[in-house]
Amino acid sequence: MLLKDIQSLRFGYESNLLRIIATQLGPAFPLMGHDKAKNLLDARRRDLIGDAVRVTSDLLPDVYETYHSCLDIFGGGLRGDLFVQQSREYNANVFAHGKKFDLLIHSALLNDFTSDELRFVIGHELGHVAFEHSRFSLHDFLSDAEEISADTADLMFRWSRASEISADRVGLLCCGKLTTAVTALFRTSSGLSGIDVDRILRSFRKQYEELEAQLTQPTTGNLSWVRTHPMMAIRFKALELAALDIVSLRQGAAGFSWKGFRRIDGQVAAILEAIDAQT
Ligand SMILES: [Zn+2]
Repeated sequence: MLLKDIQSLRFGYESNLLRIIATQLGPAFPLMGHDKAKNLLDARRRDLIGDAVRVTSDLLPDVYETYHSCLDIFGGGLRGDLFVQQSREYNANVFAHGKKFDLLIHSALLNDFTSDELRFVIGHELGHVAFEHSRFSLHDFLSDAEEISADTADLMFRWSRASEISADRVGLLCCGKLTTAVTALFRTSSGLSGIDVDRILRSFRKQYEELEAQLTQPTTGNLSWVRTHPMMAIRFKALELAALDIVSLRQGAAGFSWKGFRRIDGQVAAILEAIDAQT
């Protein structure tokens, strides 16, 4: 698959938020420059070599193969290594400079997740690389918070949440199955394992329905929780809505149309807009 096709999966709401932030900030828009990104990637690489273990075909053949099956989807468009570090937390992160990146995954994920679930996690991180999310550092941005209006900071948090939905789509593209993606999402957020996928799906659906009910009756008290807590349910819904399209795109099926995909993208955007409107 071509990198630009994968980039077309980017969540439209995310791109719109970035445009709004860029317009508001003008020259102060925190887009990381080439040199700074390169230096950060180099420094991070040195840290990883010191504190983490690089996954090679010799050391961890299965994980290496899983990782490369994800990387191959990008048709050689991205280059980077996978590192593992001891941690019981289900977490992974990536830093990129252009098409180059280093991905760090916590050991608990390698120990506990199936290969397919790992594909979702790895694909999600590679999604952040494909969409160049590392260029906008929320951390750097907020450390200069004195000069930033509450409104802009709020937009940046919205963008950060929306960027997870873009990355999830690439996770699904790599693992190829909605149930796997949803199980991986559930396991990383709850820490629970061994739960039947039908129960997981029912749980996410119920959480989402409750959220939707709250949104359609916005007069019932303080809704500030709506904006901070339900991301998992929304990420689930966003995956569910886009799943048929993404799976058929992966299979190169004739059933895929970008027009249909953009319609679904708009539906997901409407959900997040409704939530973001609850201040
Ligand atoms: Zn992410």
